[in-house]
This record gives sequence, structure tokens and C-alpha cells, in this order.
Amino acid sequence: HKYVYDFAEGNKDLKDLLGGKGANLAEMTNLGLPVPPGFTITTEACKAYLTTGREPDGLAAQIEAHLESLEREMGRKLGDPQDPLLVSVRSGAKFSMPGMMETVLNVGLNDRSVVGLSAQAGGNDRFAWDSYRRLIQMFGKTVCEVPGEEFEHALDDAKRAKGTTNDLDLDADDLRGLVDAYKKIFVKHTGREFPQEPREQLDLAIRAVFESWNAERAVVYRRQERIPADLGTAVNVVAMVFGNLGADSGTGVAFTRDPASGAQGIYGDYLANAQGEDVVAGIRNTVPLQELERIDKKSYDELLDYMARLEEHYKDLCDIEFTIERGKLWMLQTRVGKRTAAAAFVIAGQLVDEGLIDLDEALHRVNGAQLAQLMFPRFQLDHEFQPVAKGIGASPGAASGKVVFTSARAVELAAEGESVILVRRETNPDDLNGMIAAKGILTSRGGKTSHAAVVARGMGKTCVSGADELDVNVPAKRFTVAGQTVNEGDVVSIDGTTGKVYLGEVPVMPSEVVQYFEGSLEPEHVDNALVRAVHRIMTHADATRRLAVRTNADTGEDAARARRFGAEGIGLCRTEHMFLGDRRELVERLILARTDDERESALAALLPLQRADFVDIFRAMDGLPVTVRLIDPPLHEFLPPLEQLAVNVAVAQERGEDVAKEEALLAAVRRMHEENPMLGLRGVRLGLVIPGLFAMQVRAIAEAAVAVTRDGAVAKPEIMVPLVGAVQELETVRAEAEKIIAEVVGDSGVEVLIGTMIEVPRAALTAGQIAEAAQFFSFGTNDLTQMGWGFSRDDVEGAFFWRYLELGIFGISPFESIDREGVGRLVRIAAEEGRAARPGLKLGVCGEHGGDPDSVHFFHEVGLDYVSCSPFRVPVARLEAGRAVL
Ligand code: PEP
Ligand code: MG
Repeated sequence: HKYVYDFAEGNKDLKDLLGGKGANLAEMTNLGLPVPPGFTITTEACKAYLTTGREPDGLAAQIEAHLESLEREMGRKLGDPQDPLLVSVRSGAKFSMPGMMETVLNVGLNDRSVVGLSAQAGGNDRFAWDSYRRLIQMFGKTVCEVPGEEFEHALDDAKRAKGTTNDLDLDADDLRGLVDAYKKIFVKHTGREFPQEPREQLDLAIRAVFESWNAERAVVYRRQERIPADLGTAVNVVAMVFGNLGADSGTGVAFTRDPASGAQGIYGDYLANAQGEDVVAGIRNTVPLQELERIDKKSYDELLDYMARLEEHYKDLCDIEFTIERGKLWMLQTRVGKRTAAAAFVIAGQLVDEGLIDLDEALHRVNGAQLAQLMFPRFQLDHEFQPVAKGIGASPGAASGKVVFTSARAVELAAEGESVILVRRETNPDDLNGMIAAKGILTSRGGKTSHAAVVARGMGKTCVSGADELDVNVPAKRFTVAGQTVNEGDVVSIDGTTGKVYLGEVPVMPSEVVQYFEGSLEPEHVDNALVRAVHRIMTHADATRRLAVRTNADTGEDAARARRFGAEGIGLCRTEHMFLGDRRELVERLILARTDDERESALAALLPLQRADFVDIFRAMDGLPVTVRLIDPPLHEFLPPLEQLAVNVAVAQERGEDVAKEEALLAAVRRMHEENPMLGLRGVRLGLVIPGLFAMQVRAIAEAAVAVTRDGAVAKPEIMVPLVGAVQELETVRAEAEKIIAEVVGDSGVEVLIGTMIEVPRAALTAGQIAEAAQFFSFGTNDLTQMGWGFSRDDVEGAFFWRYLELGIFGISPFESIDREGVGRLVRIAAEEGRAARPGLKLGVCGEHGGDPDSVHFFHEVGLDYVSCSPFRVPVARLEAGRAVL
């Protein structure tokens, strides 16, 4: 079994096996770019190690063989005392997990080869001892779990003794002393000497990278990013090149386009005389990449050439890590770069213009989650709000919230329902939970490529980084800025687009993309690159998709907005909202009615109100279908809660007031109490039990349709019966409804369809029978999930889903994204059997899943005619319905 691939043996399509980093290193090697030689140990080796707890057979020998050929190529031997080869050992999973897993640099150094390294570097003792102390530090922390602070304290002590705060002031002797101190720390925590044998160092480092796949922060990150837990990581063993050999060396990162806006140009950061992770960690301040032209023109020109070649080759934005060792440029990593939602659209549009990709590919490259982000509100700024600081707009959005300084506090307050802004000097992987809990992240240090920036962008979370006017004091739980002190709990607002920071809560307004959808964009913005790209890609999605997109709306106003967002009808108009407010009293009268007359008079009072509601909606949806669902929830939901009513009655009795009415109400509430109301008297059951209720609604719908038609509009009502489980239920309701419709509609030309929701598992399983009585089906996937799994939709999310997610029983709540295998199977069966019984049966979905990207793809595959979702999700559903076809 082949577990090890030389870089020259791989390519970019082998990410499953070689991880993203390994596959792309191989690709660059084969493109002829200057990649330090090395090899990749496969994810399969990692998986085998993680399941059995030991390296698979044959791995050691394969590593040996590849190491030998690496040594031949470099003309040096690993850890050779005279002229050592050093290697880095780097993790690299299929999906990038920035900073989540481990890396060990300078493997191969020991008490003897440190001298050889110095000679190699032209007698640079300082460099050699600094490299050695970095190895002990990284190896100790990563491989042997020595607490990192111990090393940091020792380093601080050394600097203090020297009277400096700058690492660079430590000379070779200081660093040699530090190596001794580090070794003592190592012995203290591990009970053994720091391993001097280079091959042992290598094997232990590889094993540590395997194990870092299951490090807690990596597990949390994967859950958040929905990365499967069983992929494993590859390990890259790469010949070391050094960016810390002096002023003619350095290290940097580069993007072929701006990952925040998508604009073309040269973006990146460079740090002279630095090694490895110094740039990404945001520890020292970098210079913009353009300055490299002045510092080292030859390397700069070469880098630009490689950037252009990579972008041409990958046909996409690439990000790059590079090192310059004494004037020689080395490419250490590339990948198709992460980008903001705005940049994703803008870049896709640009690449179409440049002829690199077609519109289908552009549509494929963006997604509904990104579009949803672009629909977030923006700050509405007037003179009242002046920024107190300006950092780097690291991840866009507008966020306000209470300031917190630790991950733990962020989690705590967020659990209480507070919006929080996590403020740190810089973040590190341990802050992940706090970053997830926070509305936004604000750091005083670090650039666009710092940990905070990269992770926030990945999560779509607002982030301002490097706001260096902020003096952050984490232990004291405060920061100062512009002469003011901000304490934990004070409110700040951060703009992740402009990088500006405001004190207090700034009001928000709709984003440009929302204004574009609403047709209310100011003329000067109509032409901006983002709006143009969104328009172009949405137009293509609409031309491509087969699924229609409707909306769930209960008012004329919502319906009108959804229509502007592209809704092609209403898929669910819930009528229960029309029974609230001052109409509640009429519902009370209906429930308390003792005689037919009392009940009929309550219904008669409700009729004109309902009719007016429907007139509004039909007008807003002139010419488009409107599915109106007859009332669904148990009627006692419209009555006051039992306890409150009981208290009111008791108090009133005490005061000697007349409580006859309240007592009747209380008795009714007691009578109607249900242990499991979701499985109780609701939906079609209400229609069958309460005479006249559905009839009133049907009449209101039909009368409204006729009225609107008389005014010259086109009403296309579709009456939908909820909670049907047996065809007989539907037949009974339908017979009554048809009579009323015939009577009201007369020769007005109005056509009313009657159909049913499929939201009870039995309905799905008897869909063939039900279709005989239904002119359409609409899947209520909320109830279908509730009853399919037996999960109370109102309780489970907070109660135990966290544990289910943790155990991987599901990767995402089945109420959020359709469970394809179970609930999805019910949908598939009902669709097939329904259509077999009634060819051409119209099928839609109106549960929350109708606006979820992955679910939209499923409904496309199953062959539904439309999805229906909340107005704000309509553009997302249009986009995803287009993508589903590709
Ligand atoms: C459903 O159950 O999916 C549905 C749309 O109805 P409701 O959410 O109103 O129960
Ligand atoms: Mg339902």
C-alpha cells in the first residue's frame, strides 16, 4: 500500500489523499515553480494510525525511502553534524483548517548539527541557536504537550536579563543559554531528554500531526465548518528554507486578488528576516507586499510572474505563502484562496469577463450562504457617530454588542441571549468557541491574514483586526481608545467592511444587495462591481433553474417584498396570524359559543376581516398563485395561558368582582388542555370538529378572489388543508369547500384549487390515495421532521441537539437542513406515488427547508415543482435552485 508520495508524484486533484497543502505543493512542483523538495504522507496513513493507535505496516520503510531520495536531492543528510538537512513537518487536511493543527519546523537539529547549521549559514551562530530553540519549543509543545507558557516565560526571562523586549537583541550566547533552559523544561515535563536522534524527532513529529486531527480546537472547527470528522490529515515533510537569515531573507503571504473586495491587484504582507508562522500569527508588523519591490526587485518580479501563472492555471483567486532565503524565492504553499462573500461574486464575474470561466462555472463558484451574508444590514451612519478607531476590515458585516475579553465570557453571555463583541489583542486557536459565540471580533493587532481575520472570514463573521489605537488590557477587562475607557459590558459597534470602530450602538440599514433586489438602489451604486456581479449571476441562475421559488407570507406587505425579491407566488400563507391582536376576542367567542347561533355570529364577524386580509395578498400577488392554508394550530393557543387565567379569576373573586365570563374561559381552557398539543386537535382535525370554521375561511378566500378579479386583477387561490393523514379527512373537507366555492365563484372565472399539506408520515406513505383527492401537495417538512423523527420541534434544539451534533449523529439539525435518508425518503415516496396516481400533480415544499441551500438541491433532485421560503431567503433559493441544475 502506497502511503508516501513525492511532490513530483501528486497533483491538485488528489486532495482526498494528499490533503490540500500536499496536493497543491505537488501541482506547483509539476508546474516548475520553485518548491522546496519534500514528500507527503497520505490521509490514509493518518486514518489507519487514528483507528489502530499505531503506524500502519510499511509506513516507516516508505518514509525511509523518500527521506533518502530527499537527502540525495538536497545533497545533505537529515541532522548531519557537519552539514545537516532540516525538514518541516506540516499538517494539511483536505479542507484548510487555519492554525487548527500542528507544524514542527527545524526537525533534524540537535546538539551537534546546530554547529553544522551555523557553518552552513556562513558562521551564523545566532541563527543556528535560534533555530534550535524554536525546534525544542515547537516540538515540546506540539509533540510532548509541554505547556507553551513555560517556554515563553523562559524567553521573557532571557530578554529581561538582557534588558530588552525584542527577540532580535538576543545574541548567540543568550540563545545557547535559552536552549539549556528549554531542555530543562522539556525534561521536567516529559521525564526524558530532548531527543537527539533526528529520525526519532521526525517520527514523533509525524505522529503528533496525525494526533492533532483530534485536538479539541480542530474538532470544534470542523463542527462549525461542517467538515466531516473522519477525513484525517496528510503530513508534509519539506526541506527547510530559511527566511530568517538576515535582511536579504524574509517570508510573506500573497493573494492574486483582494480577498475582501475581489478587486484586481497585488495584495499581501511581507516580513523581512522572519520565519514560518510569524506572519500568520500577526506577532510582528508586516509591510505591504508592494514594498518587496524596493527590498528585493528580482524576487518580487519572480513572485508576480508565479502569481499570474497560478491564477491562470487554477482559474481562480490563489493565496500563496513564500519565503526568500538570501535572495532566492521559494514557494511554500498555494491554494484557491478563501474570500469574502462579496469577493466571491465579484471575482466570479471578473473571471467570466476575462474569459477564464463561463457563467455556469461562475454560478457554481458562489453559493446561497454567501448571498445571505451580502443581505446582512449595514450601519446607518450620520454625523452623530464618529469612529474612535480604524483597523482593517477583515471580514465584512455590521455588528454591535457588549464587549467581552475572553472566549469563556463570550460563550456565557451569548448563552444568555446577549450580542457580544470579542475584543482581543490577537486571537489564537483557543479563542474559537468565543469567536463562534460572538457577533463580531475586534483585535488590536494582526493584518488581513492574522488568525482572527482568516477564521472570521471563514465563518462569515464580522471582524475588524489590527485596530492598533486600541490599548487592550485583557486581565483588567477593559480597553482604552481615544482617551476613553471601554469596560466589559459596554456596547461597541464594528464595521467589518471599513474597519471602523464606534462606541455605542449604531443603527443599521439594508445592504446594497438588498437595495438592488428591492429595486431601490441609488443610481450611483447600480453600477458597482458587486451589484453588477450579483445581477449577472442571479440572471443566469434564473435562466438555469427548473424549480420555481415561492414565498411564505401572511400579509400583503411581505408578499409584495417577496415579489420584488423574485418570488413567483405564495407557497404558504398561514392564516393563524390573522386570528391574533384584537381579533383574539372573536376567537374567544367562537370557542366559548354554547349554541350554533353564538358560534355562527362569531364566525360571521371574522369573515369580513379574513376576506380583507386575502384581498391584500391577492392584489400583491396579482397573476401569481397563492396557497392559503386553513387554520392549523390548536385553538387554545389563542386563549390566555391556564395559570395566568386561574390567577386572574382568583384575584377577581377575592375582590368580589363578577367573574362569570372569566370562569367560563377558564373552564374552556381546562377542557381544551392537551398533553401533546402538537399531536392534538389541530389542522384538519379542527375543520372536522368545529362546524363552520373552515367553511368561513374558504368563503373568505373565494370572496376575496372574486372581488380582486372584479377589480381587474388575477387571483389564483390554492386552498391547502393542513395535517392530513388519511384521504377521508381531505375528502370530507373538500366536499364542503367545493360547494361553497361553486356558490361564491359563480361565473366570475375564478378558479380555486384544493390540495393538501404532506406533513404527517402517514400522508406521505398513503400519498397515492391522497392524490386522488388533492390537486396539489405541499410538503410541510417542519412537521414531517417533527413526526418523522419524533422530535418536538419546539424543545429539542436547546435540549439535546448539541449532544447529537457532538456525537455526529447528525452534522446539522434536521430542522435546518433536510434529513435526506429518512424524512427525505418520505418526501420522495410521496412525490413518486402522488404523481403515479395523478400525473402532473403539482408538488412544492413550504417547511423551513425551502430556503436551505442543501435542501433546495434535494428538492430539485426529487423533482418538486417549487420551493417556498421566507421573503429574505427567496434570492438564496433562486440561486441554489440554479446551482442545483449544474
Ligand atoms: C410545516 O410543518 O412544515 C409547515 C410549513 O407548517 P407549520 O410550520 O406552520 O407547522
Ligand atoms: Mg406544519
